[in-house]
Formats: sequence, C-alpha cells, structure tokens
Amino acid sequence: MTFVPNSASARDIAHHLHPYTNLKVHETEGPLVITRGKGVYVYDEDGKDYLEAMAGLWSASLGFSEPRLVDAAVKQLKELPYYHTFTHKSHLPSIDLAEKLKSVAPVPMSKVIFQNSGSEANDTVVKLVWYYHNAIGKPEKKKIISRIKAYHGVTVASASLTGLPNNHRDFDLPIANILHADCPHYYRFAQDGESEEDFATRLADNLEKLILKEGPETVGGFIAEPIMGAGGVIVPPKTYFEKIQAVLQKYDVLFIVDEVICGFGRTGNYWGSQTFDLKPDMLSCAKALSSSYLPISAVMVNEKVYQAMVVESEKIGVFGHGYTYSGHPVCAAVALETLKIYEERNIVEHVQQVGPRMQAGLRKFLDHPLVGEVRGTGLIGAVEMVQDKKSRASFDPKLGLGAKLAKIAQANGLIVRAIGDSIAFTPPLVITEAEIDDMLARMKKSLDEAL
Ligand code: PLP
Repeated sequence: MTFVPNSASARDIAHHLHPYTNLKVHETEGPLVITRGKGVYVYDEDGKDYLEAMAGLWSASLGFSEPRLVDAAVKQLKELPYYHTFTHKSHLPSIDLAEKLKSVAPVPMSKVIFQNSGSEANDTVVKLVWYYHNAIGKPEKKKIISRIKAYHGVTVASASLTGLPNNHRDFDLPIANILHADCPHYYRFAQDGESEEDFATRLADNLEKLILKEGPETVGGFIAEPIMGAGGVIVPPKTYFEKIQAVLQKYDVLFIVDEVICGFGRTGNYWGSQTFDLKPDMLSCAKALSSSYLPISAVMVNEKVYQAMVVESEKIGVFGHGYTYSGHPVCAAVALETLKIYEERNIVEHVQQVGPRMQAGLRKFLDHPLVGEVRGTGLIGAVEMVQDKKSRASFDPKLGLGAKLAKIAQANGLIVRAIGDSIAFTPPLVITEAEIDDMLARMKKSLDEAL
C-alpha cells in the first residue's frame, strides 16, 4: 500500500512503535486511524463507521462518548489535578473510590491499592504474595501458579503469569517461581467421552499433583481470570472452580482473581467471581473500572493479607511499593463517576437483558460451515473457526484465518479481535439489542466472505 506523504498513516509508520502489532506488516499496511467515537461506534479519518465489538480492548464499557465522564475529569482537573498517596498523604477521590470498591466487592475485602493498568495491578499481586509469605514467616512459599492461555499483562512479572507463548518468547520469560497449570478449555482439551465435570476433576487433580510435586510449602498463590479473555474467551467447565478452590484451601494457597476483563458487569453479574462463586484473597481490576477513559487499576486485599502487611510494617517500616500515579485524583474521579453510572443505569441488569441476544445470535453461527464452537456468557463471547467440525481440527495457523476474518470484518465496519482462529466479542456494556443485531449482521457477512 502507498500512503500520501505526511498523512496520519505515513507519519504513524515513520514514528510510532505499536504494541501488539506485527511490525513488518505494519510498515506496508499502516494503521487504521480512529478519530472519534459515538456510543458503540468509532469513526476513521474518512468518516467510515465501525461497530466496536471489543469496546476497544475489552474495556470501554460505557461506549465512546459518555459526557459525564468528561465532566467528572474536567471538574477534578480544576479542583486538584494531581496529588499523590505516598507517605500518609491522601485525597478525596482515592478515598471515595477505595471505599466504593470495598462496598461492591464480591467477598469482604480490607484495603484497596491503586495502580495505572491491569499489568501493574497483577505485578502488585505477585509482590504481595511474596511480601505476605515473608511477613508470616514462610519465606519459601513463593511459587505462584497461573494457567496456560491465561492473560495477566505484560510487565515482567505479569507477563510471566500470562500463559501465552508470544508474551514469553524472546523476552526471556517467565521469571522463576511462576508455574502454569492446565487450560480449562473443554472443547479443546477434554478427552473422548469425558464430561465437563470429569474434565474439571482431572484438572483439579493435576493442580494437586503439581502442588505436591513442587512441595506445598513452596506454593504461595494461584491466579485466575473467571473467564479467560485474551487466551480465547475460555469459559470454565462446570464445577471447575469449586474443585480448584478446594485444592487451594487444602494447601493454604492464596487465591487471586483477575477481574480486569470480567469485572463490572461483563459476565452478567457485577463480578466474574459472582458468576463462578469465587472467594478470592486478592482481586485485581482495571479497564471497565473507568470505562477506560483514564488509566486506573486496583487491587483489593482481604483482612488476612492486610494484617500480615501491617505486621511487616512494624518489623521493617515503610511498605515500599506504589506509583507516582497510584490513585491519581482525576482517574479516581472518573472511575467513581463510572461506577455511579453503572448503578444508575442498572448496567448489570442491562447485560442480563441483552446478553442472551448476543449469545443466541453468536450460537446461530454454529450452522456456518466455518464455525466449530461458540462460547461465552453475558456480553463476552467467542466464535471459533475450525477446518473440520467433527474432528475439531484447526486450520493450519499459517493460513491466519482469524486475522483474515478480522480484516474482512474491519472492511465491513466491524472491529473484532482474532485470537488464533477464535473471534472475540466484548462490546460496550451499553449496547442495545438493535446494535447487537447490527453487530451480528456485520459478522455474518464477514464469515460468508471468509469462506
Ligand atoms: N489481566 C487481564 C485479564 C487482561 O485482559 C489484561 C489486558 O487485557 C490485563 C490483565 C493487563 O491489563 P493492561 O493492558 O491494562 O496492563
């Protein structure tokens, strides 16, 4: 492709290093430059509309034009544009937000610490697992178990938790003390004739074997997304988390739930933890916390973890962790307003109402010759394309069918995410039934064109 000299695309190619992008392809194909948003749609430089079926990065839950979030930011910028939360300083937006998050937490939580991104939240979690076990006199209990295909971010520690080859390969990751247990994808990894419950039992048994092999005295934490997002929208099989949590309790392993995608209504409950009856000791969240209008993330810790941290402070003094922007007042004010809007507009009930329309619409694609599995709940879903429906054989990865489909969809005014040959859908939570129908129609056209 050739680009008009000095156009946005030409300047992008010349100057901008893109995350999560094939850099070689980018040099010739350039970017899609988005210039404005309205509701669930975004628009490019030429005014072409795209239904944003990923809410950006699973995140802009209130869509792309919520004026109340803009007003909340402006108001706070005028009042106190910046202050920090180090060394006993505080400010009202971060106090209010910590209090609010605790009040909506899926299990009783003690304290909330703020970061700027999901990756940093999970980095904090890793450090807290280590800090906690040092504090309680079990310094050898440091290993953290994540899962194959998990996504927890890209900082050194959170990328190590992530269980995807692209995030490890040639970055010299994972770091020591991070292990990966089985991926709970029934469609892909169940054995012939195995029920969902039997599959869940096998995975829980494997987790127990892993803990015993490593030595329970060395395993300090287990982290999981309620539904795996970037690994392919993988919904756990029936009874999975019940069995996994029993193993964690048996060996006194802290349970950390990563609610960065599932939190704030996505799965049809306020938290994914409620959808799957999870009882975390720590919970990380980000993205929809501020509808992504400004960067902010949070980690909630329970009383057990917090009390150990206080003891550590008695012993060594200052808790030596935190960011210049931890609880940034403008981000916190926008997050507070976001949570207020979720309540006022009954966003969870809205997801319960419209989610089934998206899920039923996606499941209709099972009749399509390319589609092998459709999965999801609430407003998170995925369509997996297969070469052979019966054997579930995947297409040759070299074909890049998922990426090809995402490209066709983009030409048809639909932004989706390809994860291998799975196509993910996480539209803004404010999406209407008519907009869901529009999204499904654009997807149907794209699937037909990919044949
Ligand atoms: N955890 C989960 C479940 C995520 O999906 C993501 C990002 O997609 C992260 C953590 C990392 O968040 P961030 O990109 O804000 O660092």
